This record gives sequence, structure tokens and C-alpha cells, in this order.
Amino acid sequence: MSVNEIRWHPLLGTWVIVASGRATRPWRDATCPFCPGAPETGYGWDVISLDNRYPSLSTSPSVTSTPPSFSKLEPGYGRCKVVIETTEHEGDLDTIPFQNLVKYVDILGRETAELAEDPGIKYVAPFRNKGELIGVSIHHPHSQIYALPFIPLRIERELASMEGYYKDKGSCLVCDIVKEEELGERVIYRNRDFILILPYYAQWPHECHIYPRRHFQLLSQLTDGEKESLSETLLVAVSMYNSLFNFSLPYMMVTHQAPVKGHYPHYHLHIEFYTIHRYADKLKYAAGIEWGYWAFTYDELPENRVKELKEALKRAVNRLKERGYNLRGELIP
Ligand code: ZN
Ligand code: ZN
Ligand code: FE
Repeated sequence: MSVNEIRWHPLLGTWVIVASGRATRPWRDATCPFCPGAPETGYGWDVISLDNRYPSLSTSPSVTSTPPSFSKLEPGYGRCKVVIETTEHEGDLDTIPFQNLVKYVDILGRETAELAEDPGIKYVAPFRNKGELIGVSIHHPHSQIYALPFIPLRIERELASMEGYYKDKGSCLVCDIVKEEELGERVIYRNRDFILILPYYAQWPHECHIYPRRHFQLLSQLTDGEKESLSETLLVAVSMYNSLFNFSLPYMMVTHQAPVKGHYPHYHLHIEFYTIHRYADKLKYAAGIEWGYWAFTYDELPENRVKELKEALKRAVNRLKERGYNLRGELIP
């Protein structure tokens, strides 16, 4: 019988998800489980969300016996979902029809709202891994959503930072960053509702963040207009990345939103992209200093990498125009 449990890491004060059933999951199958007509997907859809067949968390978890006295153990209660963004087997968020993107953003909001109703869920984590170098096991374009029974440590840290800033200054940290950076050199693109920026404090080579102008906490709070603007911002970011070098760039894309239980008025939702290429043929590895100490080193001036991204975005915009897509927002020179 497979086990789904969370074990307390007493040194770090956070949970480790333990799932014994996942070691046997298929790795880069010959037939795609996400293409239309596969047993799980069927026909008649353009964007769908499904339960992950090999979930790390379960709605009926079984656990091992008593933990040692220095730790604790809880059931690995939760849900793991997959969102398939297109019926096409190849591609990325910049090759799918724009209406799929809007629907994708809408689904992330709906799933957040629905999963929030579950009394056992404390946090909804939507993320997108792309590229074999990131460890993606299925090529078909897709994202994942983990509905967790705890608040992840990184989010606890952000909650504390934003709350501390508010107590100190009486305003929101991210709102203030948007105000101060809006016209600065690190902003790459902006529209009515969002900015795309390589942050002053980037850790990964071409790390970019999407910050909403409006102060809100959850994907389920996006207005219809914001869903459209966010879709365009995602399109801009991903097509920029894919125009940076002469290949489709691997990345991780994560949404940082507030926990779904409790009240977090000082939190400001945002999306972060992490990339691992320093150059076309050189990778940034997270190794001893990064994993062992959570101390990142950045091997270039972030402001120089912004220039590379702005050039890449110009090329991307031309490609989008050829596909008939004209941006509504503006590129920042
Ligand atoms: Zn496929
Ligand atoms: Zn804010
Ligand atoms: Fe964040």
C-alpha cells in the first residue's frame, strides 16, 4: 500500500511531503496521456484540468506508524491536479491560441476557489515546469496545481515580509515596488493591470516577476479584464524567453498567492519565472551555496540581463505580429 504523509522537519520548521507510490510513475511514455483521445482526456476540450494520476498528496492518505519524538507526522492530505493548456502535443504558452491562455488563467482561478472550499487545504500552489532540463516527464504542454495541507515555508517568509513592511511603512511592499520601478530600467513590459520586471533582487539568471497593479491576494479574485491582461503578460514573458536564445527556453513558473484559510490583507499576489541558462550553452546550477545555505549568487549585473531580455522581446513581438497578435500593452525601452 502506498503512503502519503507529511513529516515535520524540526530543524527548518517546515513539512516534507512523503509519497511512496510515485517511484513507479511512468517516465516519458511513448504514447502521450494528455493528447486528445487518451483515456483520461477524451475529446471535446481545448483546455482541461484533471486529477494527477500519480499524486504526491491524497484525499484518502495512509500513513506510517508513530513518528520519533523530535518530529511529527500528519496525513498527506491534499490534491494534485494537471491543467492541459492545449490539444497540441508540442508547444508552450506562446504557441497556443490566445483564448486558451485566457481560459487557462480562468481555470487557475476557479481551481483556487474550489480547492479553498476543502477544509483540509491550506494553500493552493499553481506552477508550470517546462523543459527536460527542469525534469519535465511529459512534453505535452501542461501546468500543475498542488493543494497543500500546510503553508509552504517560502510563502510564510513572504507573508512575514509583507506584514512587517506594512507595520513599518503603512503600505504594501509590492505596491511600493511597482510604484518605484514602474518607470525604471528593470521593467520590461507593462499593461493596464500588470508589469513584467526583472527584479532588483533576482536570484536566477533571467528571473522575471509579474506584479499586478491592483492589490489582491488570490487568483480567484482576478477580474475578467485582469484575466485578459494577465494572459497577455504571460504571452509576452514566455515568447520573450523563447526568443532569447535559439531554442525553447526551460523555465519554472510559479504563482505566489495567499493561503486559502485565514486573512492575509497585506499579501500581494505575483507570478515568478526562474530560468537556469546563463548563456545558450551554460547553466546556472543550484548547488552547495544555493541549496545548502539558501544564499544565491548572481553572476552578472541583473541590469545587463534586462537589456538582453528587452532585445529578445522585440524579436518576440515581431514573431507574434506574424501570427496576427498585436500587443495592447507597451514595451519599455
Ligand atoms: Zn500529447
Ligand atoms: Zn499591494
Ligand atoms: Fe514571491
